Amino acid sequence: MKIAFIGLGNMGGPMALNLHKGGQEVAAFDLSEDACKRLAGEGLRIADSADNVVRGAEVVISMLPASQHVESLYLGNGRPGLLNQLPAGTLVIDCSTIAAASARKVAEAAASRQIACIDAPVSGGTGGAIAGTLTFMVGGSMSDLERARPLLEKMGQNIFHAGSAGAGQTAKICNNMLLGILMIGTSEALALGVANGLEPKVLSEIMRRSSGGNWALEKYNPVPGVMEAAPASRSYAGGFGTDLMLKDLGLAQESAAAVRAATPLGGLARNLYAAHSLDGSGALDFSSVIRLVQPK
Ligand code: NAD
Repeated sequence: MKIAFIGLGNMGGPMALNLHKGGQEVAAFDLSEDACKRLAGEGLRIADSADNVVRGAEVVISMLPASQHVESLYLGNGRPGLLNQLPAGTLVIDCSTIAAASARKVAEAAASRQIACIDAPVSGGTGGAIAGTLTFMVGGSMSDLERARPLLEKMGQNIFHAGSAGAGQTAKICNNMLLGILMIGTSEALALGVANGLEPKVLSEIMRRSSGGNWALEKYNPVPGVMEAAPASRSYAGGFGTDLMLKDLGLAQESAAAVRAATPLGGLARNLYAAHSLDGSGALDFSSVIRLVQPK
């Protein structure tokens, strides 16, 4: 299948590579020259613009930072959006984490041009993107999901149909609100134990196998040196940026306000990541939030 992949960052890069390694014909594009060079070095065919990358593509996949990037790519922003260029019958799969309302806007514009479109945000981190074990949360029609399934299976292990357009984004925002909160709680517990003389590796293992066990302790320990593959052990480089977590917690608060839901810990977590970002840590992996509670 001919695929155009747009957005080759920490997640999109390895996802595009997994499609390429899985035998798909992938052309890719990113605004960042560095990202393009890195992926070209891995054997991916790189196009010089978004307009060119989609030429002849049957499927367009995007993995961009936030709502504004996705809306401007597909709907346009001072120039016609990509949807104007795609032939009827093309399948658009947006894997970015964005507002459910933005996902619905893009899906409606696509439907009016007979273009199929699903929102398919992911969970599993950069480790899951590299290993091809991501979880996809899909919003859109079942038939469009079935069309996308063989490609999603090359990038992930778990594929869920959450509901109609935008539902994948709602599921993703709920999940990330929980992740943001649990990373802060895990950090607090680890910092408390270490300040009281415990070895972080020992305490992590005790809690991992006890009632406090969670995904951060399993796969993404925030203390440097505890897990070789976690961003904490490479000075919090790569991974899932604090500013991206801040964006997701902002989206969670917006959707909570829209339905008058009480999300007190989600609100507090958003403020803590905001303070951490203002401190100059926006580009660091979100697990660096442990620095807020570690003794200096
Ligand atoms: P990233 O910042 O590493 O990559 C985003 C890429 O998009 C960058 O390379 C940027 O140059 C490119 N880009 C932006 N606008 C573009 C455009 N118009 N055309 C082409 N390229 C463009 O971000 P990431 O960590 O890969 O995250 C991507 C999305 O996935 C975000 O929505 C994020 O919330 C979500 N996500 C990230 C993780 C993670 O662990 N990093 C996990 C799950 C979901």
